[in-house]
Amino acid sequence: MTDANAGDSGNGSDSRSVVYDLAPACAADDVEVNARYHAVVNGVVDYGVFVDVSDSVSGLVHESNLDRTYRVGDRLIVELVEIKENGDIAFDVVDPGQYRTVTVDCAPESVPIASLAPGEDAVVEGAVVQIKQTGGPTIFHVNDGTGIVACAAFEQAGVRAHPDVEVTDLVRVNGSVERHDGAKQIEADSLDRLTGEAAESARADLDAALKERAEPNDVEPLVEWPAFEKLRSDIETVARLLRRTVLEGRPIRVRHHADGDGMCASIPVQLALENFIAEVHEDPDAPRHLFKRLPSKAPFYEMEDVTRDLNFALEGRARHGQKLPFLLMLDNGSTEEDVPAYENLAHYDIPIAVVDHHHPDPEAVEPLLDAHVNPYLHDEDYRITTGMMCVELARMIDPDLTDGLRHVPAVAGLSDRSKAEVMSDYVALAESEGYGRDDLEDIGEALDYAAHWLRYDAGETLVNDVLNVGCEDETRHRELVDFLSERAERDVDRQLAAVEPHVDHERLESGAHLYTVDLDNFAHRFTYPAPGKTTGNLHDRKVMETGEPVITVGYGPDFAVLRSDGVRLDIPQMVAELNEEVTGGGVNGGGHLVVGSIKFVKGMREEVIDSLVDKMADADLDEELSSTVTIDS
Ligand code: MN
Repeated sequence: MTDANAGDSGNGSDSRSVVYDLAPACAADDVEVNARYHAVVNGVVDYGVFVDVSDSVSGLVHESNLDRTYRVGDRLIVELVEIKENGDIAFDVVDPGQYRTVTVDCAPESVPIASLAPGEDAVVEGAVVQIKQTGGPTIFHVNDGTGIVACAAFEQAGVRAHPDVEVTDLVRVNGSVERHDGAKQIEADSLDRLTGEAAESARADLDAALKERAEPNDVEPLVEWPAFEKLRSDIETVARLLRRTVLEGRPIRVRHHADGDGMCASIPVQLALENFIAEVHEDPDAPRHLFKRLPSKAPFYEMEDVTRDLNFALEGRARHGQKLPFLLMLDNGSTEEDVPAYENLAHYDIPIAVVDHHHPDPEAVEPLLDAHVNPYLHDEDYRITTGMMCVELARMIDPDLTDGLRHVPAVAGLSDRSKAEVMSDYVALAESEGYGRDDLEDIGEALDYAAHWLRYDAGETLVNDVLNVGCEDETRHRELVDFLSERAERDVDRQLAAVEPHVDHERLESGAHLYTVDLDNFAHRFTYPAPGKTTGNLHDRKVMETGEPVITVGYGPDFAVLRSDGVRLDIPQMVAELNEEVTGGGVNGGGHLVVGSIKFVKGMREEVIDSLVDKMADADLDEELSSTVTIDS
């Protein structure tokens, strides 16, 4: 035995034989037959000696191969003779003569986060998605594409461990898997930032894994509908973006219009995303921390809302070490009026996707968006409601939701008064689930009523129970809908009883009926229904009474709400013209082509309303009158 010439020469032409010196972490996979290893005796028995070549790799040198006696702790060089089927390893003692030692640094195999088992030691490799400093350890949330797990690293109580590591860095964490507050967590013994090639290859692996897992589920739409097919790949793009966002551990914030269609759009998407977040994260509280849904009262993203959202996002980053959120706008967000809000967000890394069916201004908004779904972009229109699109979006994210969502597009369509041909298919689909048409309309009314009183609150649970999506008690759903829709109906009747005697009527030259009413003086204020809905309800009554083209205008001191049937209005266009023509009117607003609202300054009300009526008098009648005035409720 000679050890004198040990050491790696690093010279490729070296003809001396090689003896491996395995690192303690090396495993059975790292050794092979005929290779030679530095070993240490760990046991002496009658029939030979047991030797270790690493912490976990040991074997027997049979007594017949021993040239002398050994004691525990003696060092020797062995050659691996055989790995038996049961894993036992047989070595021979060898005298290699001239040799060189090659050190083998076996890093322990990393374990997929999804298969971590409590009570075991494990190594994980992935990207840091969040770093939260607690009063005790620093918590690094690490993502390897199979899941996201919290890794606790302790420096001193309340002191940031590994200050060189930042969000998005790739790290290797070695530690024990434990349960902490019901969730798997790694108590890190070591946490190292990967650099160079190791980081690059880990990044590439992670990207590939995330890309694959972000792919939306390939679901057949609930009903066959050629118009919808044109939108499908755009919706898939949003589904892919949202899944990727969840996989990257980024929070998601949803803003939606606070009405029936907006709720039908956002509730299924919320459920789908929360389910997916729960699937990706080991922490059961992750859906609560990473998802937030908020209604918007205005039909666009108001500066007040965006400023609050931005402030909330920046606080989340500062206090919880979170990434900035992804913003999803539903049943809102396609118009020029949304631009200032988006510009405000553009100061920070906040991606935005929009699913909306209001008449869009693509040139204005699209430079600021990461994805934009709107039927008008494909020669379709508002009759494809956001709720219809978002049920498919939710199913692409989590197809298991399908059974609980079949009634939702019908509720969305009825509450937005969609006249899409496909409505009869959607209603039939809901009927097959036990919902009558009246039930569906009542659900829409109840949602609208709840949204009104919830104001700026999301109304978790309550709205789920009303819509019967993620609702645990069917009886409660029915009772709640009955109660709320009856109250809504009673309030509408009361409001219309007050308003109707004050409605002015004139016949426009085109033959259309024009109804106008001063809501400020003749409607109950600060109650349900608000001016928009009051005007809508009045309008629906007039359409039914006359069976002819109708325009209805409900106005307040500084606003007007417009509804029309059988008349070709282009409200966004009218708003633009009024703003030009009425100097000092301060006119702005918009909405759908035939449903919208405008604002102006109080002192110019008369001028603005007069000009508005002139414009509406000039509007052509719709040739498809008979189909557009049909309201079969
Ligand atoms: Mn809508």
